[in-house]
Amino acid sequence: MRRILERLAREVADALCPERCAACAAIVPAHALFCHACCDGVNALGPPECERCGRPLTRGSCCARCAAEDDAPVRYARAFARYDTDTTRHPIAEALHAFKYRGAWRLAPRLAQAMLARAPATLGAPLVAPVPLHVARLRQRGFNQSAMLALQLARALGWPVAVRLLVRTRDTASQTALAAAARHANVDGAFALRRPGSARARHVLLVDDVWTSGATARAAARALCADGARAVDVLTFARVADARYEPGA
Ligand SMILES: [Zn+2]
Ligand SMILES: [Zn+2]
Repeated sequence: MRRILERLAREVADALCPERCAACAAIVPAHALFCHACCDGVNALGPPECERCGRPLTRGSCCARCAAEDDAPVRYARAFARYDTDTTRHPIAEALHAFKYRGAWRLAPRLAQAMLARAPATLGAPLVAPVPLHVARLRQRGFNQSAMLALQLARALGWPVAVRLLVRTRDTASQTALAAAARHANVDGAFALRRPGSARARHVLLVDDVWTSGATARAAARALCADGARAVDVLTFARVADARYEPGA
């Protein structure tokens, strides 16, 4: 009986205020992120992948970069799906665009829900925090989309959240147009703790919308590690396929 009533309530809610596909605006059932057609264009990420940075692999459990890095600031990085722009359909890129420029409040819970399955198990004393925007960028946009995802994820995981754990001390240039080495230099040292000591002994889950080269997340994680964080993991909605991505993995 309860299940029938719940279904009825969901159907009434759908009829009164239908949800839209995050990529094409088709009407979808409540809580669905994409319509069926867009869902077919999503390249969800999962094993086989680098156990540390989450890079898709065809063999082995650790990518060459992580194997060569002794004191990587990020312990574990995962994303929900691959960020494609070179295919005819790219629902992940469309969803992120919609999230940034239209209906952010409405999309944040569904984006976070998709990311949830890729969250790490906590090592104890967890703390969810977004990658921050510089205050000038925040004023321009009006909100930090990563903070909205962090709030939703923290609620779903039952972990505490600190939206203002980190601050961006430099208004860095956009990462998208830069080569890998320039990306690292662009964001290196651009983050600081708002209150030094607040990440000490915490297992921090850093949340961002996209993992591009990982330079931004690594720079933020370095600030957290320097503050005494026990471990820093990163969870993003999308991950840009890098040059070493092997199709078919
Ligand atoms: Zn769609
Ligand atoms: Zn790796």
